[in-house]
Amino acid sequence: LCYSVCSMQEIVEEALSVVLPPFEESRITIMRNFPRKVLSFLGDGQQIKQVFINLFTNALEAMQGGAGEIKITATSGRHAGHDAVIVKVADTGGGIPLSALNNIFNPFYTTKESGTGLGIPIVNRIVTNHGGKVQVNNYPGVGVEFTVILPVEPPPP
Ligand code: ADP
Ligand code: MG
Repeated sequence: LCYSVCSMQEIVEEALSVVLPPFEESRITIMRNFPRKVLSFLGDGQQIKQVFINLFTNALEAMQGGAGEIKITATSGRHAGHDAVIVKVADTGGGIPLSALNNIFNPFYTTKESGTGLGIPIVNRIVTNHGGKVQVNNYPGVGVEFTVILPVEPPPP
C-alpha cells in the first residue's frame, strides 16, 4: 500500500468521472450527501478510487441503463474504537437476488453473462487491507446499499 492523505469527496468524484460518461444521456440520477468539511483519511487513494469504481459499476449495471438513482452518503464516524470515514452507496437496481446474496464476496461468483465476479471481492480486499469493513444492506425488489467503513488512519501492520 502507498499511503497518503486523501479527501474522500475528491476520490468519490474521481470514481464517478470514470464510470459516468457512458450514462450521460441516461436517466440515472446521482445524489450526493456530503458534508462541507473535507473527510480526509490516510490510505491508498488509487485503490480506494477502485473500490468506488467497482461499487458504482455494479449499481449502474443493476439499473441496466434505465432510470434509477445512486445515492452517495459520506460521513465521519467511529469504527472499532477509531475515527472512521463512512460512505454509503445506495442504488435502485432491484437489489441482489437472495440466492446470490451469500455468494457475492466469493471470487468469480457472478450472475452476469460476461461478469468476472471480482468486483466485490476486490472491494472487500482493499477495504480490509486498510483496516476497514464492507457491509451490505439488501432490499429485494428495491435496491442495495453498500457501506464502506474506513479508519481515518490505518492500523499498524
Ligand atoms: P460482477 O459484477 O462481475 O458480476 P461483482 O463481484 O462486482 O462481479 O458482483 C458479484 C454479483 O453481485 C453480481 O453478479 C450481482 O449478482 C451482485 N451485485 C453486486 N452489486 C450489485 C448491485 N448493486 N445490485 C444488484 N446486484 C449486485
Ligand atoms: Mg462488478
